[in-house]
Amino acid sequence: MGYREIVKVGDPILKKTSRKVEKFDEKLARLIDDMKETMYRNEGVGLAAVQVGVLRRVVVLDTGDGFMELVNPEIISAEGEQEEKEGCLSVPGEYGVTRRPAVVKVQAQDRTGKWHIYKGTELKARCFCHEIDHLDGILFTQKVIRKE
Ligand code: ZN
Repeated sequence: MGYREIVKVGDPILKKTSRKVEKFDEKLARLIDDMKETMYRNEGVGLAAVQVGVLRRVVVLDTGDGFMELVNPEIISAEGEQEEKEGCLSVPGEYGVTRRPAVVKVQAQDRTGKWHIYKGTELKARCFCHEIDHLDGILFTQKVIRKE
């Protein structure tokens, strides 16, 4: 495996809800590694499994301070507000400003099933929200408040 093709807007899979991961096996580890390679090769800051055609609740991201893998992520708290320009590897060439929380706390498992709590501000907070939206079939384009 390795690199996987990114699903683009127009493909109905992007509107589907991803299922919870229940097996923390070799297949999950391979999916996460492939998503990591695909994200970095496309110079993305985040990628959800549905974007490589897999309806599982898995997200990878790197907003500049290291690689993160989020399995079954959930937002446990959100505070404040920010408005920033956003884009998506599945919606090439399109950008728009969205309103997202300023500080987001996420609880998620890693590939071994262990739970962690992460806090994100600025880009990382937006990224948590953007990627978790993907798991629920939501694209940032549905949340654009103005084009820039
Ligand atoms: Zn996206």
